[in-house]
Amino acid sequence: MAAWEKNVRKVIPYTPGEQPNRSNMIKLNTNENPYPPSPEVTKALQEVDTDSFRKYPDPTAGVLVQALADYYNVSNHQVFVGVGSDDVLAMSFLTFFNSGKPILFPDITYSFYDVWADLFRIPYECPPLDEDFKIRTKDYLRECGGIVLPNPNAPTGLWKNLEELEEIIAANPEVIVIIDEAYIDFGGTSALSLLPKYENLLVVQTFSKSRSLAGMRIGYAIGNERLIKYLNDAKYSFNSYTMNAAALAAGTAAIQDDTYFKETLQKIINTRERTKKELCRLGFSFPDSKSNFIFATHPKCSAEKLFEALKQADIYVRYFHKPRIDNYLRISIGTDAQMDELIRFLEHYVGENL
Ligand SMILES: *Cc1c(COP(=O)(O)O)cnc(C)c1O
Repeated sequence: MAAWEKNVRKVIPYTPGEQPNRSNMIKLNTNENPYPPSPEVTKALQEVDTDSFRKYPDPTAGVLVQALADYYNVSNHQVFVGVGSDDVLAMSFLTFFNSGKPILFPDITYSFYDVWADLFRIPYECPPLDEDFKIRTKDYLRECGGIVLPNPNAPTGLWKNLEELEEIIAANPEVIVIIDEAYIDFGGTSALSLLPKYENLLVVQTFSKSRSLAGMRIGYAIGNERLIKYLNDAKYSFNSYTMNAAALAAGTAAIQDDTYFKETLQKIINTRERTKKELCRLGFSFPDSKSNFIFATHPKCSAEKLFEALKQADIYVRYFHKPRIDNYLRISIGTDAQMDELIRFLEHYVGENL
């Protein structure tokens, strides 16, 4: 090791899902939306004046913040936006988790939380999910440096009801509780309704999944005005111009086309419920997902082998080589035609491997 390397901030980075790009592949590995963004997004982008790219974008991201505030019926001082919710979450960790006490998140959850904690040198503890993969409320009713819970959780897809979440938020008035609602539009009920009661609550959502805009990188947080002010102070101390002009236009158009949003959501939910029945029929079991993916296991087929076999057939799903979940596959919900093809493959595969 060179002398200078001693003082490098060393991190083990997050591993994103593969992004292969072949025309006839079926990509069910990163929970992207199988439908295109709203036609209003296309229109808005066509109307973007490229001459405006000479200038810096609006540092407050005003149009997008206002569109979100209108949509969720909150003040624009309660909305923070960032380059995907990953940016919003990272900024929130940096801003709010400074007590030196360990923050809490589940052992099986979004695998970016421990990466940010390590990057920012935030200590953390990971209470294990119960044997049904549920988050145990009582594990979060204790002194800590903050809490981050995805709801629905990833990669299990399980949603925790608001009464239980509220118990956790109410028990922790001295720290910030972040609820990461990346998948909330697919079936759960948002914790946004708890905001008037709890100053320590921050709700984070994204345009990447339910609004088909993963490639544009738009995420947001909603909380009380003081929390949002602190977040903005940190942002302006790091990078003032996080949101580019095209993302501002696309995001604003997407949030304003609620009809299209609800239509595509319903299609994905219907496909998910149908896929659950098919997987059951083939002997798979899975937690009852409220998200746009299903976390499935089969008593007779190794998940790792099935993952490889699917890949050979150009069907990509996600496999995590981790304790407790290494016999599960996370399967994103695609179009009906894509799921039919998956099921056809599985029917054949399971039949041969019994
Ligand atoms: C996808 C995802 C995110 C991040 O999404 P962005 O594309 O950065 O908005 C955050 N949390 C969870 C749990 C996710 O699954």
